[in-house]
Amino acid sequence: MSLPDAEFVIIGGGAIGCGAAYALAKAGKTNILLVERAEDVGQVTTSQGAGLCGQARDSLERTRLAMHSVAVFRELQKNSAVKPDWNEVGSIRLALSDKAAEEFRRLKETADGAGLETALIDNGEAQRLWPLMDFSQVKAVLWCPSDGWMTPISVAKAYAEASRRLGVRISTGTVVQNILQKDGRAEGVQTSRGTVKCRYVINAAGAHAYHVAKLVGLDLPIVPVRHEYYITVSMPELRPDLPCFRIPELTLYGRVRDGGLLLGGWEHNALHTDPRDYPLKGTPPEVAPDWPVLNGFEASFTRVLPAAGSKEKKFVGKGWPTFTPDGRFIIGESSQVKGFIMAGGCNAHGISGSGGIGKLLVESLFDPKPSAYVRSLSPDRFTATKWDWEDACTQSRRIYETYYGPGC
Ligand SMILES: Cc1cc2nc3c(=O)[nH]c(=O)nc-3n(C[C@H](O)[C@H](O)[C@H](O)COP(=O)(O)OP(=O)(O)OC[C@H]3O[C@@H](n4cnc5c(N)ncnc54)[C@H](O)[C@@H]3O)c2cc1C
Repeated sequence: MSLPDAEFVIIGGGAIGCGAAYALAKAGKTNILLVERAEDVGQVTTSQGAGLCGQARDSLERTRLAMHSVAVFRELQKNSAVKPDWNEVGSIRLALSDKAAEEFRRLKETADGAGLETALIDNGEAQRLWPLMDFSQVKAVLWCPSDGWMTPISVAKAYAEASRRLGVRISTGTVVQNILQKDGRAEGVQTSRGTVKCRYVINAAGAHAYHVAKLVGLDLPIVPVRHEYYITVSMPELRPDLPCFRIPELTLYGRVRDGGLLLGGWEHNALHTDPRDYPLKGTPPEVAPDWPVLNGFEASFTRVLPAAGSKEKKFVGKGWPTFTPDGRFIIGESSQVKGFIMAGGCNAHGISGSGGIGKLLVESLFDPKPSAYVRSLSPDRFTATKWDWEDACTQSRRIYETYYGPGC
């Protein structure tokens, strides 16, 4: 069956593409066709996510973006026929040094400015929240009661279902092969099911966003960087409502999942793959579990949770979230190719960021005066300046390695 023309064609049915469809439809733009090459939405990077959502960020804009995502997750959890499985269990962030404690005070000030409820709590209170952890080396704890976790595939499915109800059409098992252009403007897509004319093409193709941008002649540094976490066998003492946690100095994060401990981290020597080394039709290389790295996460974490040592690891989550050299999302229309819009460069928080990304996308397209922050996310920042791939890959790895540092 041939596909209908649309005002918007969204390429990619991950959390970002589905979230963009939902945000546009809520803004009254319902003539949308979302095209996904897998047999269902949320099957690629989104399915690999650990599912954490943390809102305390180092700038007002980034904090508000994450807060908007939480508002969307709550709304979908309450009203959608398909739920994102949003669990608002809160989160604790642990400082192991005075320097990190100082950083937490700055984070709290930013959170206050954005209207996000957080509190610096004492170790006794933190102990009540996470009875198994050892807080004896902890210098400060930042508590955010409205953080939490969701099931990543369910997030994409919840967006898709709610978007369909608003009139969005979703074509799975459909591959975008080319983008049609006329007079410097994108005007349609060529797919495995035929050609679709449209006014706007939105590139939300995840680890293929580089290749899709290349179809219209744009060179964008969207660099997949390897990321991994593991889940242990069930530990009876772990309750499902325990808060998520982050320990920036150990570059670790975690939560309870399926009765076990989910523990992930940011490696000190990140590994990237060059998107120019695999084609649009292909996939990034398989990621094999890197046991020295995963065992290193475990060894670090036993400093605060000795019980987590030597637990059998029953699952390894792994994949290639994309990074950008400045650690920012790429959102908005290209001024070089009108009608071609980016929604990518997830910097490993594309699920938790998806609600906010959708909002900023709508602002970038329809607000006559988008904010300076929204303008700073434009793809033009990479097409109007000179950059080289080696630096872009090095910088993207650095953003990964310093994920909990300033700027992230
Ligand atoms: C191990 C790991 C843990 C993570 N943990 C978290 C976390 O706790 N919280 C968080 O927010 N984020 C986390 N992330 C990052 C998160 O998974 C990504 O930011 C997010 O999934 C990116 O979504 P996306 O829609 O851009 O990409 P994807 O989910 O990959 O979606 C892109 C889609 O585009 C489709 N596509 C590509 N090419 C074409 C084509 N030619 N035609 C049609 N369709 C096409 C693909 O099939 C794919 O479904 C984690 C990632 C990993 C790997």
